[in-house]
Amino acid sequence: MKILVINAGSSSLKYQFMESEGGEVFAKGLCERIGIDGRLTHKVPGREDVKQEIPMPTHSEAIQAVLDIMVDPEKGVIKSTDEIAAVGHRVLHGGMAFTESCIIDDKCIEAIKKCIPLGPLHNPANLMGIEACQKIMPKTPQVAVFDTAFHMTMPPKAYIYAIPYEYYEKDDVRRYGFHGTSHRYVSARAIDMLGNPEHSKVICCHLGNGSSLSAVVDGKCVDTTMGLGPLAGFPMGTRSGDVDATILEYLMGRYGYDIKEMLNILNKKSGVLGISGVSSDFRDLDEAAAKGNERAQLALDKFVYEVKKFIGAYATAMGGVDAIVFTAGIGENSKELRADICEGLAYMGIQMDKEKNNVRGKEADVSADGSKVKIFVIPTNEELMIAMDTAALCK
Ligand code: ADP
Repeated sequence: MKILVINAGSSSLKYQFMESEGGEVFAKGLCERIGIDGRLTHKVPGREDVKQEIPMPTHSEAIQAVLDIMVDPEKGVIKSTDEIAAVGHRVLHGGMAFTESCIIDDKCIEAIKKCIPLGPLHNPANLMGIEACQKIMPKTPQVAVFDTAFHMTMPPKAYIYAIPYEYYEKDDVRRYGFHGTSHRYVSARAIDMLGNPEHSKVICCHLGNGSSLSAVVDGKCVDTTMGLGPLAGFPMGTRSGDVDATILEYLMGRYGYDIKEMLNILNKKSGVLGISGVSSDFRDLDEAAAKGNERAQLALDKFVYEVKKFIGAYATAMGGVDAIVFTAGIGENSKELRADICEGLAYMGIQMDKEKNNVRGKEADVSADGSKVKIFVIPTNEELMIAMDTAALCK
């Protein structure tokens, strides 16, 4: 089935038009500066990229621009928008309401709206993408795929916070976790690569700009590092990961920050950027560290140390581990960080083959012969998961 996958942000919108079976991508692109002026980048495999400036006061004009270029006789890939069988939308926060993907109807939209307080930055933007598609393509079925859904199988002891229980009961405060579509895709691939055993224990390391780990038993998530929001876990590009809440009170008191300013620091100015003062991009950190920048090295050391700690924690939580998966920008591309993370874990049966680890961006088993635990590099494909879910629900 030919599916249009949409990932709408507040001022940008990514799209991918693809086949749900096999994952062939016919076209993909990005609308930027929505609400400001509007820029479209459209890519078709084997052709030159198209860049256009098109006014995009709202997400509706952005979606219209995508549909227009898709049916353009020269730059397009289809004759009519009727060839789009369905649209799959990435939605950040599904709260407690969504344990799986669902067809978008009035009830679903209401439930996504109810999750806005939990995902105040992303859910409104996701809804704008959905509403724009409904307006322009009213007859085409639409599906919502949630970043949180895969993690809804966590047991209470993993998702409950140790604060008064009434905040869970009345206000839905709990661990939700994110990158769920990625964790679902790579854990399923890993189980496949393990030979589809009846029982399996997998740790997925989604290491990108935003990063999270998940522990997956028999294909079901049992724990993950992100929390009510995506700020939690270990240090990321610009996010702090878990911090002692006392720091908030202390710094807010000292500098007179309000909570918005404080959270902006923790979301945008922390992580490896905050420690290094150099960059949030691990390539820049590698370069700076190689030139002797000690804070860049400290940021890398901190990142590796915290990922290692969670691997240990999740192996203990699951009572063992059969495979560790590396995915996303860093996990797929940085052989050095993968090696550093696995270094010294031989006592857990985790042994990497340095030669095999010399890969970038393709599926590989990089564990040493005889390693009790498999180490896999698996490029994530959230769009394919969204397309597959959409096709399955729209059959
Ligand atoms: P996002 O979370 O925005 O989807 P990605 O998964 O694309 O991010 O990851 C982007 C990050 O991957 C970059 O910020 C960079 O730190 C890292 N990265 C990409 N290539 C490399 C590389 N060769 N070595 C180290 N880090 C890399």
